[in-house]
Amino acid sequence: MKVLKFGGTSVGTVQSIKSVLEVVKTSYDKGEKPLVVLSAMSGVTNLLTQMAENAAERASFAEDIQLLEDKHFEVVKQLIAIKYQNPVFTKLKLMLNELEEILQGVYALKELSLQSKDLIISFGERFSNYMVSKIMEQYIPESIYLDASHYIKTDSNFGNAHLNEPLTTQLIMSLTHSHADKLMFVTGFIGSNDAGRITTLGRGGSDYTAAIFGSVLNASVIEIWTDVNGMLTADPRIVKKAFSLPILSYTEAMELSYFGAKVIYPPTMIPAFLKRIPIAIRNTFDPEFPGTIIQFESDCTQLPIKGISSISDISIINLSGSGMIGKSGFSGRLFTLLAREQINVVLITQSSSEHSITFAVNPSDAERALKLISAEFELELEANKLIMPEVEQNLSVLAIVGENMKRTPGMSGRLFAALGRNGINVRAIAQGSSEFNISVIISKEDLSKALNAVHDAFFAELKKTLHVFNLGTGNIGSTLFRQLAEQHDFLLENNDIEIQVVGIANSRKMLFDENGIDLQSWQKKLDGDGQIADLASFIDKMKGMNLPNCVFIDNTASKLPSTYYEDIFKSNISIVTCNKIANSGSYANYKLLRDTARSHGVDFFYETNVGAGLPIVRVLRDLMLSGDRILKIEAILSGTISYIFNNFVGDASFYDVVKNAQALGYTEPDPRDDLGGVDFMRKMLILARDAGHEIEASDVDLGAILPESCLSATSVDEFYTELLKADQYFNTLKEKAAAENKVIRYIGKLEDGKVSISMQMVDEKHPFYALSGSDNIISFTTERYKERPLVVKGPGAGAEVTAGGVFADLVNVGA
Ligand code: ADP
Ligand code: ASP
Ligand code: MG
Repeated sequence: MKVLKFGGTSVGTVQSIKSVLEVVKTSYDKGEKPLVVLSAMSGVTNLLTQMAENAAERASFAEDIQLLEDKHFEVVKQLIAIKYQNPVFTKLKLMLNELEEILQGVYALKELSLQSKDLIISFGERFSNYMVSKIMEQYIPESIYLDASHYIKTDSNFGNAHLNEPLTTQLIMSLTHSHADKLMFVTGFIGSNDAGRITTLGRGGSDYTAAIFGSVLNASVIEIWTDVNGMLTADPRIVKKAFSLPILSYTEAMELSYFGAKVIYPPTMIPAFLKRIPIAIRNTFDPEFPGTIIQFESDCTQLPIKGISSISDISIINLSGSGMIGKSGFSGRLFTLLAREQINVVLITQSSSEHSITFAVNPSDAERALKLISAEFELELEANKLIMPEVEQNLSVLAIVGENMKRTPGMSGRLFAALGRNGINVRAIAQGSSEFNISVIISKEDLSKALNAVHDAFFAELKKTLHVFNLGTGNIGSTLFRQLAEQHDFLLENNDIEIQVVGIANSRKMLFDENGIDLQSWQKKLDGDGQIADLASFIDKMKGMNLPNCVFIDNTASKLPSTYYEDIFKSNISIVTCNKIANSGSYANYKLLRDTARSHGVDFFYETNVGAGLPIVRVLRDLMLSGDRILKIEAILSGTISYIFNNFVGDASFYDVVKNAQALGYTEPDPRDDLGGVDFMRKMLILARDAGHEIEASDVDLGAILPESCLSATSVDEFYTELLKADQYFNTLKEKAAAENKVIRYIGKLEDGKVSISMQMVDEKHPFYALSGSDNIISFTTERYKERPLVVKGPGAGAEVTAGGVFADLVNVGA
């Protein structure tokens, strides 16, 4: 035989109950002899709890009784043929009247005991099981409703009763003898004590009911039918990428559920484990899916851990003081006290110096625990041998679980690296001696970010998500969005990277969407739904969303964003930028940004600061990291100047070439902005700094291309007039070069820690001789590349290649 247990969501609606009927019928028709355990309809246990508390507070519960009636009657109307409905309505009505009377008693007494509360909430399971058994009776006349409180016997620990196993076993055995050929619908969650008073087994306890029946009846399997595809690697409501685990050991399932994976109630594993009965977690809404099997042996998959679970609300109490040192009975006294008073201690850590013990409890127990401790250790407190403990609130526990953990070194390293990288502070740590579990206590507001970051860290080979906040939607920004949209599927499939743009801002509007902005229609969304842009609030919002693996992209050319970089790094957010301003400002700021990024474990990538998408910054970094020594860097890093000199050959006049370049859009509106060499200088400055030199812009020896008369002209028109006059000067240069079989180049050089940029004539042996169009070129002469320098050459400007460079930086974040 089999036990089939359906949770609240499975019996929550007419539609879901139809799915339940299908699963049960299929099993019954196959001759699997199912015994069915149902929870209350979803939301009903909570509602009943609320009603009980309201009644004690003298608030009305009449409306809620009506709500319960409507909820159940609606199902009866939809799923039972009219001619059979009346007796079912009558019986439900009788139960509702009984409930109302009990609530009236609570109301009159203004007091709600745990015993009355259990009685009240037991109605949820009684309603649903009776109702569904009646629906099923139409198809399988052997269907019968059973109230489990007659068979499950417990102690009188109301709210969380413990099983009287021998008696329960005996009662269930005799029940099944007398009902051998029935299809039983048994209420989950409830039992009764010796005096016959109703007790409950703890929230989520219907799973446990199923396991108790399964164990006594030696079921072949205990199936827990719920609303997800089994036990997942994390809570799917928080971690979107959580996936279903095919096999878990009892221990793993126990640890995961103990630390919050509510899909199965922890005690459920005990009866199943003792009899080695497998538990299957299945999805009522996808019955074909195999789900998770919980069994004795864990499987040997490659997964380093099985899952990550969490308890979102926990309080910690820290006990410290000199009175604890070497006192062996101390923790004994503390925990005996808490156990005696039924305070559940979720987790304990003790520092090796024995100076302090930290333990975690449910927030509802915290104040009581504190009072008990104050009373128990009154003498020690008075003598200042103990420091008065305090409760810390708004904390969560995150636990990683898996049997493979003990065979795989580096698990805790990976956990803490992921937390640290995302700026999550760890308040306390505990590792079970079984090594199946490492748990950490963190601030509650960080929980969602922590779960996602840790999930990515352990299942990185599966998929990593980057959350991107992009500033600037000009040429480069919009090209990047197009490239990201085009590459989305490819990246996911081949590199297991998902890039979600969750914030976009330009100088007018800004837009956020935690689930990712659609990059096909971002423009329309931004214009339509965007708020008025404001950089400070954009950054505040980015920090406030507290997402894991965050990247800020600065695709602007303005100074303002760079003033926020330090603050952004301090929030553990990486930066990718094509904006040169931050790196080419003062050296002190350049250094500060790197140090801040490093100390917060985040990346600062700016490949496109030099040579657009060409791999220059990266090559230099790799050379340095691998211990090579840079002897000399020579470079042409201005596409515009390249273009001009490449075309300044034959009969062309310098004036015409510049005019022409401007007409083609290769120059700034004032061509002196290019020909003046300042942009080039900034790139050389960044390279020199990256090569390890402490250097300022004022240290660069920037040679001029233009004669003084052109530079001092007060307008662009006047500049051109002067440029025309200077034709003779440039022609002389050109002729001199031609006579020597050379070409004119504007070359930057870094040698002996000095940067200079100057016009030079180079012959055909020089690697820069054959440069064409607007290409950039750079040569690195190093200890390793001494005879023949390492040369990188290619297009060094344009939206397509620059956005491509930003893209490449982005996928390398966190790599
Ligand atoms: P039921 O009503 O069927 O008893 P529960 O609500 O008690 O269902 O448990 C199922 C829910 O548990 C899921 O909907 C899911 O949101 C939550 N959950 C939390 N952690 C996990 C996990 N690791 N795997 C699967 N579900 C989880
Ligand atoms: N209905 C009970 C609860 O909500 C028991 C269960 O669903 O397992 O806790
Ligand atoms: Mg449940």
